[in-house]
Amino acid sequence: MAYATVNPFTAEQVKSFPNASDQEIQQALEAAQEAFDGWKTTTFSQRSQILQKAADLLRAEKPDLAGLLTLEMGKLFSEAQDEVEICAEIFEYYARHAETLLQPEKLPASDEQGEYWLKHEPLGVLLAVEPWNFPYYQVARIIAPQLAAGNTVLLKHASIVPQSAAAFEQLMREAGLPSGAFQNLYATKDQVETMIHDPWVQGVALTGSEGAGASVAEQAGKALKKTTLELGGADPFVVLRDADLDKTIQWAVMGRHFNGGQVCTASKRMIIDQHLYDDFLQRYTEAVAQLKAGDPMLAETTLAPLSSQEAADNLKSMIDEAVQHGATATPVGPAVPTQGAFVQPTILTDVTPDNPAYYKEFFGPVSMLIRAEDEQDAIRIANDSPYGLGGSVFTQDIERGQKVADQISTGMIFINHPTVIKPDLPFGGVRRSGYGRELIGLGIKEFVNHKLVGVV
Ligand code: NDP
Repeated sequence: MAYATVNPFTAEQVKSFPNASDQEIQQALEAAQEAFDGWKTTTFSQRSQILQKAADLLRAEKPDLAGLLTLEMGKLFSEAQDEVEICAEIFEYYARHAETLLQPEKLPASDEQGEYWLKHEPLGVLLAVEPWNFPYYQVARIIAPQLAAGNTVLLKHASIVPQSAAAFEQLMREAGLPSGAFQNLYATKDQVETMIHDPWVQGVALTGSEGAGASVAEQAGKALKKTTLELGGADPFVVLRDADLDKTIQWAVMGRHFNGGQVCTASKRMIIDQHLYDDFLQRYTEAVAQLKAGDPMLAETTLAPLSSQEAADNLKSMIDEAVQHGATATPVGPAVPTQGAFVQPTILTDVTPDNPAYYKEFFGPVSMLIRAEDEQDAIRIANDSPYGLGGSVFTQDIERGQKVADQISTGMIFINHPTVIKPDLPFGGVRRSGYGRELIGLGIKEFVNHKLVGVV
């Protein structure tokens, strides 16, 4: 059985779940369409009450919900609680703003003849394929706006977080969402393809690896269905010569190691002006060495295990491969526990563009440090990546930071902070980081029919 909870700290298999049968998938598709027929006729105010109730339940059940995240994919319990909170805030955002965001827009007519309106109508049943790194937040980012818009959603979650997926479905039921409007399915990849081709399914949103994104987008392309893709990233963390190193190093440690380093917007490539490089390397190494790996449920732990032993083994082999191609890998800090899917925090230096690692995404506590000659060189290095998700520029001169930020090609960029995630800011990237945007008005408008109505 592919769907199973395996505690990455103890390696214990806690529970497994059978894959959905083809009949269950068919029933779910019918239920989702049936639910859509009713849900699309509800008012924003009715939807808003359910979304607000979901936010209230998330907060009321925070410890239990957070505990499931830590159990299934190993994130620190404190970070798991923060994840539940941001989900509540996303639901609240759409409870408050969906109606305004989807207000019909009167278009300025080029002449005096007629009136033209753009209306935003729900499309129907959507399929969400989501990853394990933020098991609730990734789901909230899609279901809060799409349910608010009047669509219904089928979820194929990552196979290592089946209980978190089921808990979210249960929570939405308790919030009063009509049966069928949001369903969690333990679907196989073949069944995902079946659903994509089903005429009731109108669009697919995926967050995950490039491989999963390419495969699902190819199937959706054949079926002529719209997709949004939130894929990997290797965010540049640019440190200019005038940066405040104390603050910069604090943010670098957080930006790289939050969520065990398994974040698409983690600060994966630290690009440092040559005048600061040696100082940065020494102080960053000392700061990373302070991280305390251990039981993710304990408040004193600051470095979580990875989501699975497979993920840890994969990351270790990526480090080895980088070294084989000429990089220097420096293990940092006290040895991580032998029990659990831990990877020793590692700093990679001497990674040159002819090393395949230079262009790869390290999903865990591995920091790549690159020396830049000057500001222009830092910008060049920042843009020398297949990815274009988030990024940051550290400088004491905000105007200079903004000018540099303008020259870095990513979907999101921040001055003096690693990539920021908030309920009321959009999320998404360019190039191999995917396409489309989630959250705010951009997210809610990804899967609506922008219908032109003219009175001539
Ligand atoms: P995947 O991309 O494989 O998994 C994400 C989701 O996609 C899961 O639900 C997975 O299901 C599903 N999936 C994978 N392949 C297919 C397919 N062919 N058809 C339909 N659904 C599919 O992520 P991994 O867990 O394998 O992580 C590998 C790498 O992906 C990471 O190292 C990182 O680089 C990147 N990643 C990026 C994330 C982000 O936030 N952008 C999040 C997670 C990973 P199942 O679990 O059943 O395989």
